[in-house]
Amino acid sequence: MATQPLRLASSLLLSSLLLSACSPSSKEPTIGAASPATIKLHQDSVQKLSLNDQTDFVNAKRGLIARPEGKIMGPNGDVLIDFDAYQFIQGEAPTTVNPSLWRHAKLNAELGLFKVTDGIYQLRGFDISNMTIIEGQTGWIIVDPLTSKESGAAALAFARKHLGNKDVSAIIFTHSHADHFGGVLGIANPQELIDRHIPVIAPDGFMEEATSENVLAGTAMARRSIYQFGKNLPHSASGNIDTGLGKNVSYGTIGVVPPTRFITKTSEDVNVDGVAFTFYNVPGAEAPAELTFTIPEKKAYAGAEILAQTMHNLLPIRGAKIRDAQRWSNYLDQALVHSAKAEVYFGQHNWPVWGHDQISEFITKQRDTYQYMHDQTLRLMNAGMTPLEIADSIKLPKSLETYFSARGYYGDLRHNVKAIYQFYLGAYDGNPAHLNPLPPQDVAKRYVALAGGADKALAAAQSAFDQGDYRWAAELLNHVVFADSGNTNAKELLAKTYEQMGFQSESAT
Ligand SMILES: [Zn+2]
Repeated sequence: MATQPLRLASSLLLSSLLLSACSPSSKEPTIGAASPATIKLHQDSVQKLSLNDQTDFVNAKRGLIARPEGKIMGPNGDVLIDFDAYQFIQGEAPTTVNPSLWRHAKLNAELGLFKVTDGIYQLRGFDISNMTIIEGQTGWIIVDPLTSKESGAAALAFARKHLGNKDVSAIIFTHSHADHFGGVLGIANPQELIDRHIPVIAPDGFMEEATSENVLAGTAMARRSIYQFGKNLPHSASGNIDTGLGKNVSYGTIGVVPPTRFITKTSEDVNVDGVAFTFYNVPGAEAPAELTFTIPEKKAYAGAEILAQTMHNLLPIRGAKIRDAQRWSNYLDQALVHSAKAEVYFGQHNWPVWGHDQISEFITKQRDTYQYMHDQTLRLMNAGMTPLEIADSIKLPKSLETYFSARGYYGDLRHNVKAIYQFYLGAYDGNPAHLNPLPPQDVAKRYVALAGGADKALAAAQSAFDQGDYRWAAELLNHVVFADSGNTNAKELLAKTYEQMGFQSESAT
C-alpha cells in the first residue's frame, strides 16, 4: 500500500490555532506564596515516603550519552521546548510545590540521549514523551517520533550526531495518542517511506483511533489540555514544573502517516530490520489502540504507556473517553509473563527499570494499584456511596501508597475513582436532586441571594481561605463568580484559592 502523508488538518491544526489564540497576555500572572496551611499539608503528606531513596535517580541518570542545550523552535518562531527551562528544579522542595511532586519533577528533568542497553537508546526531555531508537541491521528503528515534526526532527538529529548517521529503517507507533505519532514527518520524508518500503508498524485500529477522538471532541479537548498541562504558566517554582509523564508537550506541527503493518493478534512475532520482536496487542486500556513488545535477544520489555513511573489517568482532566481499570490491570498481569525474561523495562514516558526482580515489582505494584482502585470503588458503589463520597474516603494500602511509581503524579486517585464510577454507572450519582438541577448561573444567583448577597458570601469565603479550607472557599466563590462574572474581588480570591490547591497537589496536572 502506498504511504501517503496525512495531516490531521481539522482537529490538530485547529488545536494549534486554539493554543495560539489562548496564549498568555503580557500581564504576568499573580504569583503567590504558600500559606501556612499549605506548608503544613506538605509536611504531613510526605511523612510515610522515603524521599531520599536514590534508586529512581540512579535509573533516571543511567546510560547518559549527551545532554542537549538550547531550544526547539516552532514554525512561527515560538519556543516549543526549552532544555534549560527547568534548571531551577534543584535542592529541597520550595514551599509552593508538594515535596513528592518536586522529587518526581527532578527525575523528569534528567533529559538527554541515554543508552538503555546494547542497541537500544532513548531520547528523553525532547517532548512530553520519549523517542526510543533501536539499532537494526540496516538503520534505526524508531519507536514513537514524539508529538511534533519539530521535536521529532530535533531528537533524531541529536541521536544521529552521537550514535551515527544511519537511515530510518522502520517506524513503530506504540499507540494512538498524538504524543506518540505526531512528529513522524520530522523523522521521515513521506516519499522516502514509499521509495524505500520502510515499514510503519502500529496496533490494530490505530488510524481510526488516532483521528476520531481528537477530531470530534478536538476543540473542547485542546482548550482543556491547555489548563491540564499549564501551557501558559511560567516555568517557575510557583508555575509549571512538570506534567507527571515528562516535561512539556511540544505544540508544533502534527502529522501522521498510515501504517503499513498492523498488529492484530494477541501476540505476534515480527522481524523488523533484522531484529526479532514479539508484539502484544493491548487495546482499550491506556489507549483504544496500543501495543507493547519484547525483544528477546536483548532481554528487553517495552511497556508503551500501560506502564509509567506514575499512577496514570483513567480519565484525564482534559477529558477523554473513560479507560477500563479492570482491563488495564489484566494487561499488567500479562505483562508479568511477557517480561519474565526481561532484564530491562523501558516505556514511552519517564525512565527505565533494570533488573528482573525490580521490573516484576514495578509491574506488580502498578497492576495492583489499578485493580485496588477498581475493586474498592465497586465495593463502595455497591454499598450505596456516591462518587464524591468514595473519592473522599478511599486510600491505597500502605504497600502501594509508599511505592513512588504508584503515586499520582499524572493521574490522581480521587479523579480515577470518579472515573471508575462513571465507567459503570455514568455521571448521575442516583440522588434525585441531581437528576435535573438548575444550570450553574441560575443556582449561583439563588445561593448568593440566600447568603445575604455577594459581599457576605465573599466574607465567608475569605474566612474559609484564611483557615486553609480551600475546597469550601472554592465552592462559595464559584457561586459568587457564576452569579456575577464581573465580581473582580471574588475572581481574585478564587484564583488565590486555586493557587493554594495547586501548590498542595501532588498531581502535576
Ligand atoms: Zn503519552
